[in-house]
Parts: sequence; structure tokens; C-alpha cells
Amino acid sequence: MSRTVYVNGEYLPEEDAKISIFDRSFLMADGVYEVTSVLDGKLIDFEGHRVRLERSLNELEMQKPEAFDDLLEIHRELVRINDINEGMIYLQVSRGSAGDRDFAYPSEDVKPTLVLFTQNKPGLADSPAAKKGMKVISIEDQRWGRRDIKTVQLLYPSMGKMMAKAAGCDDAWMVQDGKVTEGTSNNAYIVKGNSIITRQLSNDILHGITRAAVLRFAKEAQMKVEERSFTIEEAQDADEAFITSASTFVMPVVEIDGDQIGSGAPGPIATRLREIYLEESRKAAV
Ligand code: PLP
Repeated sequence: MSRTVYVNGEYLPEEDAKISIFDRSFLMADGVYEVTSVLDGKLIDFEGHRVRLERSLNELEMQKPEAFDDLLEIHRELVRINDINEGMIYLQVSRGSAGDRDFAYPSEDVKPTLVLFTQNKPGLADSPAAKKGMKVISIEDQRWGRRDIKTVQLLYPSMGKMMAKAAGCDDAWMVQDGKVTEGTSNNAYIVKGNSIITRQLSNDILHGITRAAVLRFAKEAQMKVEERSFTIEEAQDADEAFITSASTFVMPVVEIDGDQIGSGAPGPIATRLREIYLEESRKAAV
């Protein structure tokens, strides 16, 4: 059975959903997005994603879609219609289509395009990967300089995933000036002693919604958090490593560039943070 998706005010079967070939997200990657996970049929960290979307739009001087204030309702309706218990909702806003190709932004009367669709992922929370841990490689970070804006320019992260796959690994950690920025689609962390170390917020990384929640829970659990950059060598020498994102929650990393991290199995801090994150965010889900 096909999914029902949302395009500019309409709920449609996915095969009937269409946007213009002149849409600026297609021609210029002039679009921003959010991914919100669904557990128990409810939205995780919805408010954080809504606020970050608004920020991405503001940073790019992109109009808010007319339905901006109805986003919670639209998310819930898609979950209901598509009967999602565990999975994700993808949302994209683009600057729309002026009916031709032009580098300059179109005038204000060109309305943004708003698209949402669901991804059904049974077993998302009880993932076998979380018990095994991930292997990552390091690659140079060759993305643009405004990684704090969640744009659809995902070609380099896609290439990074392919490089990881070719090396028999699960993901790549990107490195700029000798320091890890983040994973291709996640924030990166190491644990040394009882300190959780993750790069400080700046334009160099996406301000992860899961990152914010996990750091808050870590502090509430009296864990020590250091927001600073670190090298691959420091990561290889760490007791634990992990990533966070809306679709993986907290996911242990057990190998970096062929070097085993700690015991080579998911560490106690990453495992505990995953449990706390899942428990607390389920309680707060809407
Ligand atoms: N960093 C990058 C580059 C990402 O693409 C993502 C998620 O897609 C994240 C970090 C994690 O952000 P969030 O926790 O909001 O999903």
C-alpha cells in the first residue's frame, strides 16, 4: 500500500504527489529540512525540530510556509493516516518555484514548497546496531561553511557514507583542521574517564536536537560534559565513542579507522545515555 504524503496543503497518495522541475530545492539545493522520529505513534523532540526549522528559514531569508503553525497537526495526521508506530517524518521546505531557473531568489509572491512524508521503521528503538556498535572511518570535511543550517545539500555526506561503506564501515566522521566536526548525519562524542566530550556549537556543525537533549540528560545524571573539539587520535584513545541523531538516538561507536575503542563493545555511558534518552523522550513525546 502506498504512503499518504503531504504537499503544499494536500494529503495525497505518494504516486500523485508532484512538485515543479523548477523548484529551487531541485535546481539549487535551496531548501531546508527536518527529520522527527516517532515512537509509540508520538513525535520525539517535536518542538526542538520546529524551532530549528524556523531558524534555518530565517538564516536563509526564506519565507515560512503558510502552514507553519499547523506543522504539529500535519505531522500527527501523517502518523495517523500511515499508521506509524515507530519511524520518522521527513519535512522539507524549499524556496519554491518561480517557473524558471535563476540564481537570484524569486520575489516574495513565490510561495515556498512544503513536503512531508513518513518512513515506517519498526524496531527503530530496539535496534540491533545499538547492541553491536558502529564502525566509522575519518574523512576530510569538505562541506560548506554554514553547517548550522539544515539544508538539503547532502551530496558530500552521501559521498562520505559511500566511502564508509566501501571500507566496510557504517559511517564517516568528518575532520577539519585536524579536529572532528561531526558524523555525516549525526553529532560525534567521545568519553574519557567520566567526561563526555563533544564539539562546541558553531557554524561548523549542525546543532543537533538530540545532542541538546542528551547533554541535558547527561548533566541531570551528574555526568561531566566538555564541549570542545577533539582529534581522531584522541577518539581512538578514548574509553567510549558514540553518535546522536533523531533517527539513531544514541548509537555507540566501537571502531574508528580500524582501531578498536575501549573494549570494542558499546560502552556503559553510551548505553546508559541511550536508555535515558529513550525513556525521557518517550515521556515527553507529543
Ligand atoms: N549533524 C548532521 C550533519 C546531521 O545531518 C544530523 C541529523 O541529520 C545531526 C548532526 C543530528 O541532528 P539531530 O539530532 O537534530 O537529528
